[in-house]
Amino acid sequence: MQAWNKISRMPAPAIKKMQDELLHKMITEELAVRHPYYRELFKEKNIDPAGIKGVDDLNKLPFTEKKDLVIPEDDPLHPKKYVLEVPSEEEQKPKKKGFALFGKKETGPDPSDYRFFSLYFTAGRTAKPVPIEYTHYDLENLKEAGLRTFDILEIDRDGTLINGFTFAPNAYFWQMFYSTIGIGSTALQTGGGKVLGMEKILKAMDSMEAPILAAAPGYSRFALQTLEHFGFSAENLERIVIGIDYSPMEAVESIKKLMESVGAKDSKVQRIYFNSEAKSGWAECAPDYGYHTNPDHILIEIVDPESGESLGEGEKGEVVVTHLDARGTVLLRCKTGDIATGGLTTEPCPNCKRTVPRIMGDIERKSMIYDLQGKDKTVQFNGNHLRKKMFAREDVLLWYAEINRSDSQDTLKVVVKGVSGADEEALYKSLQEELKADFEMPLKVEGSTLDAVANKIGLEKYITEQVIFDNRNS
Ligand SMILES: [Zn+2]
Repeated sequence: MQAWNKISRMPAPAIKKMQDELLHKMITEELAVRHPYYRELFKEKNIDPAGIKGVDDLNKLPFTEKKDLVIPEDDPLHPKKYVLEVPSEEEQKPKKKGFALFGKKETGPDPSDYRFFSLYFTAGRTAKPVPIEYTHYDLENLKEAGLRTFDILEIDRDGTLINGFTFAPNAYFWQMFYSTIGIGSTALQTGGGKVLGMEKILKAMDSMEAPILAAAPGYSRFALQTLEHFGFSAENLERIVIGIDYSPMEAVESIKKLMESVGAKDSKVQRIYFNSEAKSGWAECAPDYGYHTNPDHILIEIVDPESGESLGEGEKGEVVVTHLDARGTVLLRCKTGDIATGGLTTEPCPNCKRTVPRIMGDIERKSMIYDLQGKDKTVQFNGNHLRKKMFAREDVLLWYAEINRSDSQDTLKVVVKGVSGADEEALYKSLQEELKADFEMPLKVEGSTLDAVANKIGLEKYITEQVIFDNRNS
C-alpha cells in the first residue's frame, strides 16, 4: 500500500504503470496459484497468466458476471471458489529475486493475510445477496479506503458525525465506522432507521450539535422533512454525506434546498459511491466532480453493458472492477450492474487537482431499467429516471411505483404522500401530467397515507427503501 498523498497526485501514465505491475502480480502470483475459480478458468480457456502484462491485455480475459457469483441451491460453498486459498507456511520463505514493488520487502505470501476475518454482503435488491469475504489484509484496505474518502470529503476529527447508514453486514456501514474510528472523531454509529429510528437520530444530531450527517439520500430527505414535526433543530448541521442508494444530482439539489429551508448552518451535500464488489466506496470532493477511485486497490473499466466492448473516456457505460490488491474474495473484470452516466476520466480533478481516475455522472442501476410491453412494441422504462424526477419534487414526502400488467399492456401506478400542508389533489394532478409527458406508458398517480407508504417501501426496515415494485410476475 502506497502513501495516498503520493498516489493521489501521480500523473496518469505513472498510475497506469503502477496498475500494469499490480495486475500482472495479482494474476501470476495470486489468481493463477491460489484462486480456485480463475485458476481453472485460465486452464479451461487456455489463458497464459504470464501473458497478461498489464491493463491493455485485460480484454484477453472474460468478464465475471453477477450470475456467476450467485449461490446455486445445490452448492452452498460456491462463494469459496472466489476466495484465495491460504498459502502454506513453506511459501513464506524469502524470495531470491523479483523486483521490490515500492520498496516492499519481497518475501513470499504471509498466510495471516489470507485468513478469514468477516463476510460483507452485496446489496441484493433483485438478485440474491452474494457474500464477499474479507481477511485482515482487506480490513486494512477498507480502513485505508475510508480514510481516503474522508480526506477527499475534507472531514477531520473536529466534526461530530452521525452515521445514519443502516447497520448491516455490508461494506457501506463498516467503511464509515472505520473511517470515524481511524480519524478519531466523535461519532454516533446509529445503525440507521432500522436500529435507532428517525426520532432518536434527529435528537442525537440536535443534542450532540453534530455538523455532519451521513445517510442514504431518501432517508436524509425524509429526516429534513420531518425535523419540524419532531421539534428538533438543525442549526448546527453543516453537511450531509449521501451514499448507498441512487444519489443523482437531483437528490443533492433537493437535500441542499431542504437544509436551507430548515435553517441549517451550511448546506453542503457530498456523495460516496459504495461498490460491494470493489469492497469499498469512493467519494467526490464536490458534487458532480466524479468519484475519486483508489487506483492501487481497484482497476476500473467502463464497458458497453450489452456487448462488453471497452468504452473511451467519458462514455456512459457499465462499471467493471478488478481487484489489484485484495485477499479473501478476489474478482477479475466483474460487471457490477452499475451504469456510470459520465463514464471514467483520467484527467486531473479540476476542483481538488487529484489525479486518480474518477467515475463521472450518476450511478444508475441496470436492474432498474425495465423492458415493458407497450401497445405494439417493447417500451423501455428507466426507473432511475423516475427516481430522479421524484427527488426533484419538493411537494412529495414519500412515494413508490408499481409496474402492473393489464390487457397485455404494462402500466405504471405511482403512489404518493405529499409533504405536510401540501394540496394533495393538486399534487396528484401536476405529478400525473409531468410523468405522462416523460414516460411513454399508461400511468396513474394515487395518494396514500404516510404509514402505508412508509411500510410498503420499508423505510426503517430495509437497508434502503424499495420504491419500484414489478408486479407482473407475482
Ligand atoms: Zn476532486
